[in-house]
Amino acid sequence: MDLTSLTIDAARSSVQERKTTALALTEAHYARIKQEDGQIGAFLTLSKERALEQADRIDRMAAEGKTLPPLGGVPVGIKDVMSTRGVRTTAGSKILEKYIPPYDCTAVGRMEEAGAVVLGKMNCDEFAMGSSNENSGFYPVHNPRDPSRVPGGSSGGSAAVVAAGTAVASIGSDTGGSIRQPAAFCGVVGLMPTYGRCSRYGLIAFASSLDHPGPFGKTVKDTALMLQAMAGRDPLDSTTADVPVPNYSEQVGEEIAGMKIGVPLEYFEDGLDPDVRAGVEFGIQELANAGAEIVPLSLPHTGYAIPTYYVIATAEASSNLARYDGVRYGLRSSEGKTLSEMYRRTRDAGFGAEVKRRIMLGTYVLSAGYYDAYYLKAQRVRSLLARDFDEAFAKVDVIVTPTTPTPAFKLGEKADDPLAMYLADIFTVTADLVGIPGISIPCCESKEGLPIGMQILGKHFDEATVLRVAHVAEHALASRAE
Ligand code: GLN
Repeated sequence: MDLTSLTIDAARSSVQERKTTALALTEAHYARIKQEDGQIGAFLTLSKERALEQADRIDRMAAEGKTLPPLGGVPVGIKDVMSTRGVRTTAGSKILEKYIPPYDCTAVGRMEEAGAVVLGKMNCDEFAMGSSNENSGFYPVHNPRDPSRVPGGSSGGSAAVVAAGTAVASIGSDTGGSIRQPAAFCGVVGLMPTYGRCSRYGLIAFASSLDHPGPFGKTVKDTALMLQAMAGRDPLDSTTADVPVPNYSEQVGEEIAGMKIGVPLEYFEDGLDPDVRAGVEFGIQELANAGAEIVPLSLPHTGYAIPTYYVIATAEASSNLARYDGVRYGLRSSEGKTLSEMYRRTRDAGFGAEVKRRIMLGTYVLSAGYYDAYYLKAQRVRSLLARDFDEAFAKVDVIVTPTTPTPAFKLGEKADDPLAMYLADIFTVTADLVGIPGISIPCCESKEGLPIGMQILGKHFDEATVLRVAHVAEHALASRAE
């Protein structure tokens, strides 16, 4: 049995049935990390001690004949923006290079309660700002499918470990596309839950009204199992909603005959890569073959999503990042002669270029003279985007689009052109602004053999339907490929 190619259910049941042990699974993954991760760069920190302790706990449960929890013995990776007690958490930034949190974020706590084994912390763009992982303060991540290309960002490490088989599943965060876009680039499944479905407690904040923690997996079912463990009200995050969490795996496998699937024309305009267009149209056809009704529709404010996102996200970031002042967290420059000079030197040395760019932009749009013209205007457009989706979801159950306008690009290709980089999120940012759930599943390959992602968006708190449609598409496409 190849221990690094298992899905969650297969891994858990082989530990339960004593065909292998959680320890053997964990060690097989560390061996693979040693072999593969030098070229990929997805790990920033390994948490071996913690992983082995948890594996031992799970093995003892299995030995005693106890039923393992749903992720029992499953090795997972955690994006380095999620705080882990006693394990270095950098947010991909030099300013937190040596930061060791005294507590766990809720997502990691819940993962471990569900039996998962945390292998380590995944590389990402600094403070989750980026679309290629090239903004990591440490080193870039390479796409396991083609190391000359980026894995996407900002959760590039979390997508890459699943693609490379160096973890069974992982957690990332999506503020403007950072789960779905890297999932598409690396050929894995990435799910952004509804805003308020999963706790942000202990997630290092980028833009608080947009940050969504969520899972990556090899299959749709795996992301359903991960979401099950993460989801639900958390008294430590007042923005988590007190709404029931359905049994997601039960929905996975249900038919979709009669369901209405919206296809927004604004997502298929000129400029879309022809292979992406063909791939996603093929995926949509598979959903029609499965009995769904395809409904063309319009989301008229789509064109305003990118500028709206970059006003709101930078405004929130400039305020969230004010806390890195050299006093409370991480790095402190020893060179300043006065307090304010110490602040300046710390922030100058600790933050990378993209983070500084965003702090300046965000400070500008929030400044007294420009608040109404930019920040307030952006919030108004955000309401219009939400209305587009309300109207669409009155007619359809889910909306299907490409996840990205092109497949993975080359390292360096857009690194000096922030505006071109921002456009990589053109199909993903809207769902973050509106707070609805979305998934990216691999739908086919480009002529060059690169993965192409298909995005399925759903109504607030209706991840179940998103997963159900995604699962039907996944299976139809897999049987096509055979
Ligand atoms: N690429 C987008 C940005 O740079 C989204 C990042 C994210 O979702 N964290 O802001």
